[in-house]
Amino acid sequence: MTFNEYQKQAGNFASYPTDALIEVDADEAHETTYFLNWLYPALALAEEAGEVSGKLAKFIRKNNYSVEAQNQLRSDVLKELGDVLWQLTALAGEFGFSMEDVARENITKLQDRKQRGVIVGEGDNR
Ligand SMILES: [Mg+2]
Repeated sequence: MTFNEYQKQAGNFASYPTDALIEVDADEAHETTYFLNWLYPALALAEEAGEVSGKLAKFIRKNNYSVEAQNQLRSDVLKELGDVLWQLTALAGEFGFSMEDVARENITKLQDRKQRGVIVGEGDNR
């Protein structure tokens, strides 16, 4: 499955408000209304990423490293990563990006950083 095939299929399950609005009154003459269709998937993406961390934290807290516990952790993490992927895909779509766009942009950025020797470092735009 390609990223774009996933994005198309994932869209069949979208069920969130796409009519959230914010009115910005920049000055008295220019009031603008923005649609915040990205609001739900943006917040839910953070939630799902937190759920991945939660599964890992609870695994450590339980202090049970049996094969069964590790298998359960793998299963739980796989499901939560899928939830992260779904929300990421929805968020990308709300900004008009295909998942191919997101993947290509990321690889291009990483290749550029590696070529310039700044793959390890800090800052979004290094
Ligand atoms: Mg989840």
